[in-house]
Amino acid sequence: MIHLQNIEKVYRTDTVETQALSSINLNVAKGEFLSIMGPSGCGKSTLLNIMGLLDEPTRGSIRIADSTADKLSDKQLAHFRNRTIGFIFQSYHLINDLRVLDNVELPLLYRKSTAKERKQLALEALEKVGLSNRTKHFPTQLSGGQKQRVAIARAIVGQPEIILADEPTGNLDSAMGSDVMDILIRLNKDEGTTIVMVTHDENMARKTHRLVRLFDGSQVQ
Ligand code: ADP
Ligand code: ADP
Repeated sequence: MIHLQNIEKVYRTDTVETQALSSINLNVAKGEFLSIMGPSGCGKSTLLNIMGLLDEPTRGSIRIADSTADKLSDKQLAHFRNRTIGFIFQSYHLINDLRVLDNVELPLLYRKSTAKERKQLALEALEKVGLSNRTKHFPTQLSGGQKQRVAIARAIVGQPEIILADEPTGNLDSAMGSDVMDILIRLNKDEGTTIVMVTHDENMARKTHRLVRLFDGSQVQ
């Protein structure tokens, strides 16, 4: 589902050059739940951004869901990303002045669907994360765990084949973190969604199919 070949990433400014990733070779199978661990600054977010086609590698090739990303125009890329990948972030990235239901509908605005279809899909997604009773709340009226569940609903509303999660439980206490993790595990098992998750938590990583460790931009295992 995700094929990375000899990926290298160098960030350059006028004065500094940072080698963020070196010769990363990684294949993520369809239906796999992979976790990525490693110390701060080792390149985890950079790797996830490259997998999510949010950032380009300096060298190397990337293939996502049988599409070769570098052959797409910017517009095609945005469309492909919207259809194929759902993103979840540590700090939720919800829009605070939109109600929960409207937050979840956002990814569907890029598609040719009616308001009624959007609402129906958003309600279904919220039901999957156990938040059918919070559709009219604003994000500021929710706990951290609930906010992350809304973010998961937004990530899955368009039924993407891939979920990329950057420390999804990083801001949550262990009970709320387990709830969020259980939802991701269920999504992977029941719907076959391929998931790549960056985490600092060994306990969460242990619940996934496979763990990749990064150190200083390289795979160590
Ligand atoms: P269990 O919780 O019963 O130990 P497993 O981890 O063995 O479950 O696998 C659960 C499901 O995930 C199975 O359908 C299996 O085929 C699939 N699976 C397990 N590991 C991988 C993997 N590395 N890539 C893709 N699918 C996997
Ligand atoms: P992690 O997610 O593991 O903490 P990152 O992928 O964020 O690591 O960063 C990897 C390395 O690349 C770090 O040394 C970081 O300072 C550097 N880096 C990340 N983003 C940029 C950027 N936009 N410009 C320059 N250097 C960056």
